[in-house]
Amino acid sequence: MERTTKSKGRLFIISAPSGAGKTTLCTRLLEYYPDIFYSISYTTRSPRPGETDEEDYHFITREAFLEKQALGYWAEWARVHDHYYGTSAAFLSDSLAKGCHVLMDIDVQGAVQILERFPEAITIFIMPPSMKVLQQRLTRRGTDSRAIIEKRLQNAVREMEQKDLYRHVIVNDNLEVATEKLINVVKSYRKEAG
Ligand code: ADP
Ligand code: 5GP
Repeated sequence: MERTTKSKGRLFIISAPSGAGKTTLCTRLLEYYPDIFYSISYTTRSPRPGETDEEDYHFITREAFLEKQALGYWAEWARVHDHYYGTSAAFLSDSLAKGCHVLMDIDVQGAVQILERFPEAITIFIMPPSMKVLQQRLTRRGTDSRAIIEKRLQNAVREMEQKDLYRHVIVNDNLEVATEKLINVVKSYRKEAG
């Protein structure tokens, strides 16, 4: 089988409440380590302004999502903020079989499912400095209505209660500091992988 790296691929799972900055941090991590495969999720939510199909997400209909579910397409899936989100099982197993490092940006429900299948996965939870800052970031991002922001803030409390399920917790206060912390966590496992 073709190998794209000499090392054993590691699976990195990043979760955070919406607005905590995980997309920003994942983008920076992928700029630093372009060899990491980003797992592009499938979702039934609509694209936000600036999001591109097949790059940010595979945007699909609810019917298509449920069809794939019946076919056993998902490595994990969850209903988050009233929409379905899922990860392709084939993408994940193929990438890891090739020896590639994989980065997943998924919610806590999804992380729990992946840990059952891949207990060696490295889990990282991103925390906002406070609920007030989280609200400000969601509002300033300007991509969601007030009602959606309210829903996301309510879910944030529940998600943050589960942060202890994760091996690493990084507070995203200063972006440069949080980026460096994330890169250092990933670096330590890449070294270990050889
Ligand atoms: P998520 O993917 O977790 O929903 P985003 O990465 O979209 O969050 O970040 C939410 C908003 O907060 C964006 O407008 C982003 O530019 C901003 N942001 C992210 N990290 C920081 C930070 N450390 N300080 C200030 N603003 C940030
Ligand atoms: P957003 O709609 O803001 O992009 O993402 C909402 C939430 O869904 C985030 O917590 C994000 O991590 C999560 N998410 C994105 N893709 C997946 C996925 O494939 N599976 C699961 N379980 N959650 C996902």
